Amino acid sequence: SAGGRGVVISDNWPGYSLDLFTYPQHYYGDLEYVLIPHGIIVDRTERLAKDIMQDIGDNDIVVLCVLKGGYKFCADLVEHIKNLSRNSERFISMKVDFVRLKSYHNDQSMQDMQIIGGDDLSKLTGKNVLIVEDIVGTGRTMKVLLNNIEKYKPKMIKVASLLVKRTSRPDGYRPDYYGFEIPDLFVVGYALDYNEHFRDLNHICVINDHGKAKYRV
Ligand code: 5GP
Repeated sequence: SAGGRGVVISDNWPGYSLDLFTYPQHYYGDLEYVLIPHGIIVDRTERLAKDIMQDIGDNDIVVLCVLKGGYKFCADLVEHIKNLSRNSERFISMKVDFVRLKSYHNDQSMQDMQIIGGDDLSKLTGKNVLIVEDIVGTGRTMKVLLNNIEKYKPKMIKVASLLVKRTSRPDGYRPDYYGFEIPDLFVVGYALDYNEHFRDLNHICVINDHGKAKYRV
């Protein structure tokens, strides 16, 4: 797509000092630094919405939000698409649906992915589907999800992920649209969690050892 690798955050990027921004007091001492401030997430999402409109505008689409981590990105993306749609000749008629997957325990990837919730996927047959995900790491989760959805023969499937991790595998899965390419770090905030904590943090941040220990289960 037009965005190439998205906004590329290099491995030696030191991030922003937490003292430069505001964040919930209950997380004081638990974070290392801000990797992506909230405002930049919003600005980048606006551009992704424009790219998506340009490519698949004038279609009816089903937005499939991958819970829970994808809810902030999905909500903001849908909002931007709606705004663009309202203010231009092109329009997208959107339905929003939700699926829930679970693949992480602490910060280690588990072998088996569970599909915990979501509507009847057979509703996706013949539809233009836009999957909206928070982050692609190894890509394993997305491949399993795509395999599941392809069985129902949608007309089109596109994937938008806010983040893609730069992993050691050059053959790694790349979504059709993504906001940022980030180092191979565990990140939280903007709905991304660590054992259900940090979803209420606006910025995307890296947690420190204290934070990991505090919220370990
Ligand atoms: P993958 O199967 O691509 O390795 O992992 C994808 C899923 O793992 C994502 O949907 C997300 O739920 C979770 N995940 C991967 N990396 C991170 C991370 O850095 N932070 C958080 N909070 N979740 C992650």
